[in-house]
Amino acid sequence: MKKFLKRFFLVLIVVIVLVQIPFIYRRYQTGKLAQKIGESQTQRIERAEHIFNEYKGIIHAHTSLGGHSTGGFDELIAAANSNDLDFVLMTEHWSNEFDTSALTLNGVYGKTLFVGGNEVDTADSDRFLMIPGSADAASFRNGPTTAFLEKTRSENKLAFVTYPEKLKSWDSNFDGIEVFSLHTSAKQINPFIGIFDLIWSYPAYPELTLASYFKRPDANLQKFDETAAKRKISLFAGTDAHSNIGFHLFGDDAGNKLINIKIDPYETIFRLARAHVLIEKDKQLTREHLIEALKTGRSFIGFDVFGESSGFSFVAESATGNHFMGDDALLSDGVRLKINSPNKARFVVFRNGEMINESADVSDLVLNVYGPGAYRVEVYLDSLGPPFDKMPWIISNPIYVR
Ligand SMILES: [Zn+2]
Repeated sequence: MKKFLKRFFLVLIVVIVLVQIPFIYRRYQTGKLAQKIGESQTQRIERAEHIFNEYKGIIHAHTSLGGHSTGGFDELIAAANSNDLDFVLMTEHWSNEFDTSALTLNGVYGKTLFVGGNEVDTADSDRFLMIPGSADAASFRNGPTTAFLEKTRSENKLAFVTYPEKLKSWDSNFDGIEVFSLHTSAKQINPFIGIFDLIWSYPAYPELTLASYFKRPDANLQKFDETAAKRKISLFAGTDAHSNIGFHLFGDDAGNKLINIKIDPYETIFRLARAHVLIEKDKQLTREHLIEALKTGRSFIGFDVFGESSGFSFVAESATGNHFMGDDALLSDGVRLKINSPNKARFVVFRNGEMINESADVSDLVLNVYGPGAYRVEVYLDSLGPPFDKMPWIISNPIYVR
């Protein structure tokens, strides 16, 4: 019996060691990836200035104020400032007792502009980000989506769909869709695989460990393209920062946890996916101008964890001048798309969701347009190797050719 036990434990140790090997290799690969990203940053192509200032920030952030979160204001402000974020759109959960959008961060703290918004539900079980928020945020759950959208529209607020996979009212008149959610992405990590990455890769490379699980949101982009083919709409990536996702193995939801590691501190999660917003140079970065630009679709998604995406540009030239993301251009004026990226990459151009051009290893592309439709671009950094040849670095908003 003793001999058997000895043998059993020996085998167990061998198995435990063998199981680590792929995760040790993944750590090595993540280190290589970090090196490649570092190198690519030294090869950035600086672009000539255009008529916009580009601002980068975060859409969809919670604190403990709205529940479901353990994050505090100080932690959030410090993370926004150290990440050089120009803005953060706060989206506190509603409360029956008080106006969470008024109590959350509003105004400029350090170098970052904060806008207090709400995450709201409607009786149709649709979920939206409303920016700015309001004292009646809790009441929308008693009415239909149409009533919510009418109200936000009359008050010139931003109404963005969050959790589009659960949206029922696709025909309603919202401003945009959260095509990618960091929260949803992190929740999909298999905890039994994730725990080993957490041990081996996360301590040295927290952002890249989380980013290695990113997948192109095929279904959400398809729904976006279907909608954009019919009407103007904008896309964005939501951070849905709660500062509360942890691996709490061997514990319960009451907070008794033997192993409890928070994997989404604001500091880490603010480096992953950002909204890059274009505002005319003669305008200041204010709440109103930010909302106006996001409503128009004058923005793109940058998964900046793979490299700083600032400087990307997507413009349609025609006889009447330049048209930018969110704009209309007339086919009869002769339209040419011009795409510039701050690093050499693969450009994929879509028309109403259908791929019409793919160009590898380029930083500039000019493309003649022959048909009407919503045109948008995805940029891929194939140089980072798989799986990043399938996960975009940049996703633009559309230009609409009529
Ligand atoms: Zn949320």
